[in-house]
Amino acid sequence: MSTPSIPAESGARPTGGILLTTPGFVDAHIHPDKTTWGSGWFSRPPANDLATLIRNDLQAQLAAGDSVEERAFALMRQAVLNGTMAMRAHVDVGSQIGLKNIHGVRAAAERLASFLDVQIVAFPQFGLLSNPGTLELMEASLGEGADLVGGIDPESLDGDVHGHLDAVFSLAGRHSRDLDIHLHDTGPGGLAQLRLIAQRTMAEGMHGRVTVGHAFALCDSTQPELGATLDLMAEAGMWMATCALGADPVPVLDLLERHGVRVALGSDGVRDAWSPFGTGSMVDRMHLLGYRTGALTDSDLERCFRIATSSGADLLDTPAIKDFSGAGSADRLEFAANSIPELVVDRPSPLAVIRKGRAVSRESVG
Ligand SMILES: [Zn+2]
Repeated sequence: MSTPSIPAESGARPTGGILLTTPGFVDAHIHPDKTTWGSGWFSRPPANDLATLIRNDLQAQLAAGDSVEERAFALMRQAVLNGTMAMRAHVDVGSQIGLKNIHGVRAAAERLASFLDVQIVAFPQFGLLSNPGTLELMEASLGEGADLVGGIDPESLDGDVHGHLDAVFSLAGRHSRDLDIHLHDTGPGGLAQLRLIAQRTMAEGMHGRVTVGHAFALCDSTQPELGATLDLMAEAGMWMATCALGADPVPVLDLLERHGVRVALGSDGVRDAWSPFGTGSMVDRMHLLGYRTGALTDSDLERCFRIATSSGADLLDTPAIKDFSGAGSADRLEFAANSIPELVVDRPSPLAVIRKGRAVSRESVG
């Protein structure tokens, strides 16, 4: 390989011959079934609340011209070319759409199996108990391509905290699956649900196997119950998946670290009915995490890199990333960058993505 040069847009002083080798990235929370990636531009109707966003999402999905498989494949391929080696995909299951999204994302994942490990979470986006037929479909999805059981806002969206948690924990227990629950609720109500999930996690013997996505309640350090909630989550080995999105709240990483709650990072929706933004690149996403959390020191920036790589690999148990040992690793990324902090700030695309010792190219990825 010729000597890489620092990209023209970089603010760093070129020092020549710079090649930074890193492990691959993990996208720990993404929605490939909703994306319009690879399709034409989608103009979004206005939405000011979660219910409207969910309604718009369903309408957009029902009207989409390209299949779930084609759209998911286009986005997942883009992620691979930008260095993502594993992802946890939340895929909608509901009486309105049946299991077609699960089938489509699983088919796309199979086409990319040499490059990308994909976990699929069966996600009741349109309600679980409040959407009759969905729980049965969730159970069926576990035999048709879904790996984990998902949940969403037990109180505000589904209207029955205990019923919702009973349903998802029992489904996960019966099929020996991990859980990953979306929780947008903020304030004392959000924290109370997190404590219930933590207690339930311990009672069911699911230590380390439960993740909560977004968990905006953890992002408000003025809440008096925050510390106790974090302690309980740490005791249960619970994970938080954050996405550092637009105007959404982000966690105080120092605080979560102090209390021992592990954090992973994901894209969430990429160019879907929820948002026109997103690229599917975890290089971009870790930059946004640093920017949104006010990273200042090298150690702050290095933590963002760790969250996007080794933390995600611990959550998804990805050997290709966990076994990374430097420039000789069979699975690695190569960047024109002087250091990890500079990589996080400059967000260059990888010069090379190497899987199982072979360079991945646009042609080889299909
Ligand atoms: Zn999500």
